[in-house]
Amino acid sequence: MLRLLRAASVVLALFLPLGRANAQGALIGVRVDADRNRLMLEIPAGQLDRDLLHQAVLATGAGVSALGLDRGQTGDATVVRFERRGRRVLLVADNWGVRATGADAAGQRAATESFPRAVLASFPIESDSGGRIVVDATAFFLSDTYGVADGLRRSQQGSARVDAARSWFDVARTKAFPRNTEIHAVLTFAVDNAGPALRRWAADGAAPVFEIHHSFVALPEAAGFTPRKADPRAGYFGTSFLDVSQGLDGTYRDGFANRWRLVPRDPAAYQRGVLTEPVTPIVYYLDPAIPAPYREAFREGGMWWNTVFEAAGFRNAFQVRDLPAGADPMDARYNLIYWVHRGGPGPSVGPSFADPRTGEILRTVVRMDSWRSLIDYNIWAGLVPAAGAQGLGVSGEQLAMSRRKQHTAHEIGHTLGLSHNFIAATQDRSSVMDYPFPLITVDARGRLDLSQAYAPMAGGWDSLAIRYGYRWYPDARAEREGLQQIVAEGIRRNLRFVADQHAGADGSLPAATRWVEGRTMFDALERTAIVRRVAMDAFDERAIQPGEPMYLLSMRFAHVYLHHRYSLEGVIKYVGGMDFRYAIRGDGQAPTTPIPGAEQRRALSLALDAVSPAALAVPERVLAMIPPVPPSGDPSMDWLPRAGTTVDQVALAGGLATEVIEGLLDRTRLQRVVIQHARDPQLPTLAEVLQAVLDRTWYAPTPADPNAQALRRAVQRVVLNTMLDRAGDARASADVRQVVAFHLELLQEQLADAGPARPLADRALRAAARREIAQFFDGRDDPTQRTRYSVIPLPWP
Ligand SMILES: [Zn+2]
Repeated sequence: MLRLLRAASVVLALFLPLGRANAQGALIGVRVDADRNRLMLEIPAGQLDRDLLHQAVLATGAGVSALGLDRGQTGDATVVRFERRGRRVLLVADNWGVRATGADAAGQRAATESFPRAVLASFPIESDSGGRIVVDATAFFLSDTYGVADGLRRSQQGSARVDAARSWFDVARTKAFPRNTEIHAVLTFAVDNAGPALRRWAADGAAPVFEIHHSFVALPEAAGFTPRKADPRAGYFGTSFLDVSQGLDGTYRDGFANRWRLVPRDPAAYQRGVLTEPVTPIVYYLDPAIPAPYREAFREGGMWWNTVFEAAGFRNAFQVRDLPAGADPMDARYNLIYWVHRGGPGPSVGPSFADPRTGEILRTVVRMDSWRSLIDYNIWAGLVPAAGAQGLGVSGEQLAMSRRKQHTAHEIGHTLGLSHNFIAATQDRSSVMDYPFPLITVDARGRLDLSQAYAPMAGGWDSLAIRYGYRWYPDARAEREGLQQIVAEGIRRNLRFVADQHAGADGSLPAATRWVEGRTMFDALERTAIVRRVAMDAFDERAIQPGEPMYLLSMRFAHVYLHHRYSLEGVIKYVGGMDFRYAIRGDGQAPTTPIPGAEQRRALSLALDAVSPAALAVPERVLAMIPPVPPSGDPSMDWLPRAGTTVDQVALAGGLATEVIEGLLDRTRLQRVVIQHARDPQLPTLAEVLQAVLDRTWYAPTPADPNAQALRRAVQRVVLNTMLDRAGDARASADVRQVVAFHLELLQEQLADAGPARPLADRALRAAARREIAQFFDGRDDPTQRTRYSVIPLPWP
């Protein structure tokens, strides 16, 4: 099959330089007139009024993650039609977000007429003979169909428009095939007031070039693919739509799980339980630009899915191959694992083009960010001093590549339809769809080991989810019963799924936290706090290579200092916590379960341990060994806060304290504390939470050491700020605001008390706190004017 397509591509490419339409047997013929910078489409009469899929990919990037314009970034997949209107052909898009599945023709019409369809382009007809209509499509394809200018404007990089005089069509990448037509536009943008990122990373910020690759693809045959109903317990991305033909007992909402078409070659054998090859396997190709050793890591991690598909009854269902020589990676027939560079760290992603009618995944371009392994190496290198001569169990490259295998499996998992599962790390690494933090173990003698840092294979949830999405059934009834059994098995085996929106720092389910390892967040924090202590106590110049500038220790030490930050985030979620399931009536799951009071209190205490001066202090030896960034250095690799030339250990501690205190006193968390206590008096009150925070900070005895005093003041400042924020928070509930305000009054009274003799800086803070609380009650509080500490951002591990 592949060989045939390649032969066709060679033949068709030969037509192009001759200026002839390569329309023979093509879906849509395409011809570039380079002399006049024009692009003509040759539409067979039989293709008019037929649905096609239009895909757009940004072939070249801006080199900056924040601009949202990456090499290989996928745009929309739209079902379009060419419609003739007099001397024009229009490109029309129907609205697949609204349907009337069970309605008659009049009902369908009411549905489609209630919401707008769209006309994307108008092409003047040049000629119409022999059953072929030739149209001039230059204006459309030399325009910013991808939304590059919007992206630049949104990220404050200036006002951009395509300059057609500096734009053209890439003839070699513009081709027509029997089932797809490829068009490659090279667009120069004229940018007024180019922003700093564009000026820094474009050759000239006023004239950046972006290439947009368009594909028109024949839609797959409806026969042989059954849309699979979405189930909130199955963890799939979906194609959702309004179905206005539902009765009054419905919701008008419906949706399908997005998935590939996978049909057993021998259905009889498949149903007998024999592992069976699919009619068409899912094949991904490696970008030829991926270097060693990443290439083998990507291949191996990708091939984990081939094993997982065996759980769904398929053999050789998933393949990772090298891209054939001469193939265009932008050609719609290839699923790509793409290698993407940026000027700094950024995410890798696994998007896909799905048929909006059915949820059938048709194509994907996975983007793997090259920086990620530098981050993993940073984490490894920061631990090297603590390892001493015996090492960490793995080399830096071994660690980075074990992460890359998992990472590739993760991004490919998205392109198989799977969403994140952020509870998997606490369930014996049940899914590659979690965000993993390296599991670093430490023995009683303080020896660190990274040899089990990342899972070496996909997990139990991955198998269950792939069975849900890909198990093949001969009919609708077998499918309904089979899927129910799979979901029931997951519940029985306690293979859980928690999605993105419930895994944030303000969440209520501790186990659903990103970048953690451990059965519970208590386990995770206990281990990571010890690893952090061991690594901090030993940290020195061995964290960089001989000959490297010492300022780079800043980058390495930041990871050590914040090593426990994600576990802390998880522990904080016990406070006001509630476990829950995406339950469906009859499935036997307990929909909600508040976290017991003892666990909430233990978590509160552990979180406050983390902001004690002893826990926040940086060893003097470390502070002394980090110089300022030299003239040849890169300030973006200096991650510790500074007072000019000097590492600022107080601002560093204040940043960590801000994460902890703002997490504990989060608006919805405090609201949960109030309403949960009202339902169960055994659970902590809001007063108890606030009292604990004040007892361990403002009301705690003054430490003797001046550095500890400075760190304590930083934490007190953070507590004061956060309490003033909540008391003045218009979105917080009445009880939350009032109880927090009341504790501010109590604090103010305490501060009025002179008490024991204090250091001058402590007295100054207490005076400032009294003034700020008084201003708050006078209605003169300005949150933007209060001194804040910044949370230290680190790139994703
Ligand atoms: Zn992801």
